[in-house]
Amino acid sequence: MFPARTFQGKRVAVFGLARSGTACVEALQLGGAEVHAWDDSNPAVEKARAQGLPITNLHGLDFSGLDALVLSPGVPLTHPEPHWTVLKARHAGIEIIGDTEVFAREADAAGALIVGITGTNGKSTTTALIGHVLQSAGLDAEVGGNIGKAVFLLSQPIKNRIYVLELSSFQIDLMPGLKPRVGILTNLSPDHLDRHGNMENYSAVKARMFARQSKADTALCGVDDGWSASIADKARQSGADVRRVSVVEGLADGITAFDGILRDRRKGLTKAEIDLRSMPALKGRHNWQNACMAYGAARAFGVAPDVIERAMASFPGLAHRMQRVASVGGISFVNDSKATNADAAEKALSSFDTIYWIAGGLAKAGGIEPLKPLFGNVVRTYLIGQATEDFAATLAGSMPFEKSGTLDKAVVSALRDARADGRKDAVVLLSPACASFDQYPNFEVRGDAFVKAVAALPGVQMTCDGDAHAART
Ligand code: ADP
Repeated sequence: MFPARTFQGKRVAVFGLARSGTACVEALQLGGAEVHAWDDSNPAVEKARAQGLPITNLHGLDFSGLDALVLSPGVPLTHPEPHWTVLKARHAGIEIIGDTEVFAREADAAGALIVGITGTNGKSTTTALIGHVLQSAGLDAEVGGNIGKAVFLLSQPIKNRIYVLELSSFQIDLMPGLKPRVGILTNLSPDHLDRHGNMENYSAVKARMFARQSKADTALCGVDDGWSASIADKARQSGADVRRVSVVEGLADGITAFDGILRDRRKGLTKAEIDLRSMPALKGRHNWQNACMAYGAARAFGVAPDVIERAMASFPGLAHRMQRVASVGGISFVNDSKATNADAAEKALSSFDTIYWIAGGLAKAGGIEPLKPLFGNVVRTYLIGQATEDFAATLAGSMPFEKSGTLDKAVVSALRDARADGRKDAVVLLSPACASFDQYPNFEVRGDAFVKAVAALPGVQMTCDGDAHAART
């Protein structure tokens, strides 16, 4: 915890007292602001009061005497309708910002640097990978924001310290001053439209990652979907070094990896090449996109391509996202518990070709029908949870399957079959294409249960301990 000095002497209301809000209240107080903290949830207010935080019922406070409202990113700013504190703040004409904006002002005042990462998919992986590469290169870099630690729980900003921040669209919406040294937009597809109204609004918020950048800054933008491509075009107006990223085509100027070989090209000249195909935690085209972004960010800080390559090869991956957790006799075990729908499971099924697939849980609409084109990569399927009968009907006639029921049984059966088949590069893959709630409280607990079941198998060599947070920082 460190003081937020840029608000010294100011009067600030903070709404939303979860982890990041509470840390921000303390930082503002330490920095000499007059703070009024509140939440719609009684238990949250009482907990904060017990911690000694300055509680004021904001319903009764006149906002015209305030300088700012600091809003939790979970609270609606616009859709489905503005929260009551937003209406009060607008009426009083005060700025509405998030803890990440307060932090960014502190960072700026101290001469620290921000790498901001956003996009519909790949944010966490890209953020963690950049943190890993910069730290491996010996730079003073920390990872936080939407992933890992709340920003005010990171170290105090000092000159040239780099903060690698995963930023959701809700956080960006609360950052009018966002001007990252390196801004990243991985990709854009319809998501969270309930909170942004429509795709135009959603994409306009994401575009703000680059809007205030200037010459010394770098903009890394995916161009493989129309929305991101048009944002990349607009980013050029800022004067920043705009680097286009594609994993479906080659570019004369940009960073590409359409065939698994990352190529950095400027004006038709190839500046560097990195073979990503054998990197254990960067399997799949989607991860090549994340790797291109991380490459561009590290280059912006002067890290040499060979140093980046070595760091990428040692990236442990993020827990529950196609994470290789163990092996035995050439058979790998991969935890992709985060794949809670067919779209997410598609990434893992297309990244391996000798799969012993553990699937099931609480099925989403459409089940695993959309995955049929990838069934050729699967040797046998092990069904668990409520989706068993439904998925069995989809698989029937396409491949052999077992109704295992539980994760423990599925893991044992999958290893037995993979051993008996003796095929090269066999992968026992948990990629459920389902929510976890029928058997587990969340996907993290499901992934940890998989890792535990694997660890109990005789002779396995664990490559991770299943701690969901170990690889996140
Ligand atoms: P986010 O933080 O944006 O939710 P993650 O890095 O946590 O993204 O990845 C979540 C899932 O999204 C992964 O398990 C994978 O299936 C998929 N994914 C990761 N990176 C990408 C990408 N660049 N493009 C599309 N899908 C991706």
